Amino acid sequence: MMAESFDIDCVVIGAGVVGLACARALARAGRETVLVESENAFGTQTSSRNSEVIHAGLYYAEGSLKARFCVAGRRALYDYLAARGIAHRPCGKLVVATSGAEAAQLAGLKARAERNGVEGLELMDGDEARAMEPALSPSVEAALHSLVSGIFDSHGYMLALLGDFEAAGGRLALGAPVLSGQAEGGRIGLHTGGAMPAMLRARTVINCAGHHGVDVAGRIEGPHRAGLPVMRFVKGSYFSVSGRAPFSRLIYPMPGPASLGLHLTVDLSGRGRLGPDAEWLPDTEGPPFDYRVDPVRASVFLEAARQYWPDLRADRLSPDYAGVRPKLVGPGEPSGDFRIEGPGEHGTPGLVNLFGIESPGLTSSLAIAGHVAEIAP
Ligand SMILES: Cc1cc2nc3c(=O)[nH]c(=O)nc-3n(C[C@H](O)[C@H](O)[C@H](O)COP(=O)(O)OP(=O)(O)OC[C@H]3O[C@@H](n4cnc5c(N)ncnc54)[C@H](O)[C@@H]3O)c2cc1C
Repeated sequence: MMAESFDIDCVVIGAGVVGLACARALARAGRETVLVESENAFGTQTSSRNSEVIHAGLYYAEGSLKARFCVAGRRALYDYLAARGIAHRPCGKLVVATSGAEAAQLAGLKARAERNGVEGLELMDGDEARAMEPALSPSVEAALHSLVSGIFDSHGYMLALLGDFEAAGGRLALGAPVLSGQAEGGRIGLHTGGAMPAMLRARTVINCAGHHGVDVAGRIEGPHRAGLPVMRFVKGSYFSVSGRAPFSRLIYPMPGPASLGLHLTVDLSGRGRLGPDAEWLPDTEGPPFDYRVDPVRASVFLEAARQYWPDLRADRLSPDYAGVRPKLVGPGEPSGDFRIEGPGEHGTPGLVNLFGIESPGLTSSLAIAGHVAEIAP
């Protein structure tokens, strides 16, 4: 079939939450924008396989993009959810320490978060934490209470972003995978496949392809290909908890190097969920991923959760869903940052690449989009 050719101002690749937010920002800035998505629906990948937590911004290195975009994105997200009537609850969260060594780290966590601009933090001892959440273990020695952490309906959020994008004249093309691209005459030509193959000639291309981000960037000819990172994948599985969870706040252990620890979230309907854990996938494994949750992992979840919830019974856990983090670092390395690069960094006119948009990408999405719209050539 002969591919039809279109001249467009901007193409955004990938309709996850980040691509939707970027496309919305560009369209609202008056730019003609097409959002292309390989799947037949938006938001089916990492954007619907996460904890749906609105992060305060506790964990990130000072001066990092994660720290900056999480705080700004969180404030913008709460405003947006309230303005659009999207379900959310600023339920708060407790990071709990179950040893003296962990308790000593909480003050450092709070101080760094405050230097990053995070508000609403208070340190408390174990008794104060149990007064708020009586089901917490007697072994909890101290806690950091974050008042501005919350949960929300991420699908409703993505639907609202799409609505804004389309109302501003943007168009979403589903079932349209970007296969390759090359620069030609001040534009980037993108070949898309699927049922209606097309050639999109865009002045600006924003690559928000998530797990496929580095692969997609590698398929577009240009100087940026010389500096592409290696992407690694860390699977995070969840177990659901039957019955009512006896907590009203999110309960987090101390964070680990690849994850925030096996936490307990309570969703908007009051259902408890444990996870995600962190399982580095072999370098030979890439998308599409096997998202099944191995029931054998239940014992590890139970042991980790009992550190702070001693009364949890094994028969309440059932395998739930899984997501996969797109990482730019390897096992044992310090947690990496988001990587967002325009022509000034990589040398290919018209192209912006977003790599390693793991947690807190959902919380950060509006701030990331604002930044991308600013640097978009
Ligand atoms: C286990 C887990 C828990 C998390 N929990 C939280 C949390 O509680 N709070 C928080 O703030 N963040 C959380 N995150 C992070 C958050 O979910 C992600 O940062 C965010 O969803 C990333 O969105 P995205 O649009 O970049 O990627 P995706 O949602 O993966 O979207 C990328 C899109 O690109 C499309 N695509 C790929 N290749 C092509 C191609 N060639 N052509 C066209 N389209 C293509 C894909 O189909 C996909 O739809 C979590 C992440 C994980 C893995």
